[in-house]
Amino acid sequence: MKILRRGSTGSLVSMAQLALKRSGFYSGRLDGIFGTATESAVRYYQYSNRLAVDGVIGDSTWRPLEKYIKGYFRYTLKKGDTYWLLANKYGTTVDAIKRANPDLNANFLKIGQVINIPYGYPVVPTEIPYSYELAALVAEGLRVRYPFIGYSEIGKSVMGKSIFCLTMGKGSKSLSYNGAHHANEWITTPVLLKFAEDYAEAYSAGGSIYCESAEKLYNETKLYLIPLVNPDGTDLVTGAVDGGEFYSRAVNISEEYPNIRFPDGWKANIAGTDLNLNYPAMWEKAKELKYQRGFVSPAPRDFVGEAPLSAPESRAMYDFTLSHDFKLIIAMHTQGEIIYWKYLDFDPPRAFEIGEKMSENSGYPLTVTPEYSSYAGYKDWFIQEYNLPGYTVEAGTGVSPLPLSQFEKIYRDNLGILAAGLSEV
Ligand SMILES: [Zn+2]
Repeated sequence: MKILRRGSTGSLVSMAQLALKRSGFYSGRLDGIFGTATESAVRYYQYSNRLAVDGVIGDSTWRPLEKYIKGYFRYTLKKGDTYWLLANKYGTTVDAIKRANPDLNANFLKIGQVINIPYGYPVVPTEIPYSYELAALVAEGLRVRYPFIGYSEIGKSVMGKSIFCLTMGKGSKSLSYNGAHHANEWITTPVLLKFAEDYAEAYSAGGSIYCESAEKLYNETKLYLIPLVNPDGTDLVTGAVDGGEFYSRAVNISEEYPNIRFPDGWKANIAGTDLNLNYPAMWEKAKELKYQRGFVSPAPRDFVGEAPLSAPESRAMYDFTLSHDFKLIIAMHTQGEIIYWKYLDFDPPRAFEIGEKMSENSGYPLTVTPEYSSYAGYKDWFIQEYNLPGYTVEAGTGVSPLPLSQFEKIYRDNLGILAAGLSEV
């Protein structure tokens, strides 16, 4: 992680504050502002952990703090340790420890063996803004707690960050959900990550998700989640990237669009291509419409790119989709509390019926996409390519980036949509 010190701001600072809070060294606000309170917490943490006390979060301070974000730590077994004693000591459960150590037998523990111990809290934070770094640590934490979650990289962003995919299920029907094509719609990332955690927990515990047996869903389907399609753009919006060559170029681009707030109004990838206008589904038509409005070169939003799939992020999604056999996709966006299900005159079998179920579960009406944003999106391309159900969900209301104060409602509403995809596919 980049070095954080007094005066630093943004989502990485919020993440560090959360780690300090969870470690018991900070009780202030998770406001993303590295002020005196955060600095004293860092000093106190460093002093207590026998680190050099400088109040700065560099590698040596972040390394031991990181585990509070991943939600587990490595523990060396001592004489007399049992899962039961450890669970009590660290506020977790025997089941959670067993799950996080699938290769060990609780009855044959050896002194000196190193095991994973999950903390008692959920892995996915929903009270702080997201960065690529946070999403990646959370993904790792989820996989340790729930080793049946698969992981793969589907491609890399402009800046070389991993666009990762989490897989769950062993069924024959594949489906895929993605979030944060648009940078300032990053709240969809924790929605999908939390869904993964709730689904994994329900599956492990023999529970249900939105009234459906998680085990049944897990056995019948295979879910591919890409929670963060646009990691660089998200980092730009939440302040995790606030310097360097790519940042300077984005600033230059934004200066040509004084009416679009920076970085809050940024939807594109960091090079200024709107990823959800970069798919080969009437791309020329999208280009014509956006050019008419003046978006003829890299911009914070609405620039369709030099050609279809010119951006590495949309190219990765396209290649990934072609190499699978998805029966249904959902692309999560904000905002509007509506579900778009149509592309041109395509009428995929059961698309309306499944959409109605999603609508019923969420209260979001099924809506036909307005002409201005009808082309070149991921969902558009998916429907055109396969004639199968594809949905763009516009979660929440207000102006993106939506505040985290909406998270709970957004999650509650969308849980029924995400569950309906699994049960109806
Ligand atoms: Zn969007």
